[in-house]
Amino acid sequence: MSKVREPKEKDEFLYFTQRSVYARGDKRRKTWGKTKHKAKVWVFKDEPETANVKYFCPYCDNKDAKQTKWKKPFKFKCDKCDKTIRVPKLK
Ligand SMILES: [Zn+2]
Repeated sequence: MSKVREPKEKDEFLYFTQRSVYARGDKRRKTWGKTKHKAKVWVFKDEPETANVKYFCPYCDNKDAKQTKWKKPFKFKCDKCDKTIRVPKLK
């Protein structure tokens, strides 16, 4: 598992969310239906360029964590299957 900077209570975040993520073409995406696949994303205020992600890949069931460049809309690649996972509705 790759290293991420773990969030602590006293940390300040630019962004922190946990969302369901869906494979491309998954009909549940439209209704925000239940899925076991999730991505947790957090960005520290003092490290605003870097997104920390923990994810459960909807394509290959890989559970992993990684750091990647923070951008909106936010998406990242699964390190195992190399598919792009989109994290919906980030403000
Ligand atoms: Zn994957």
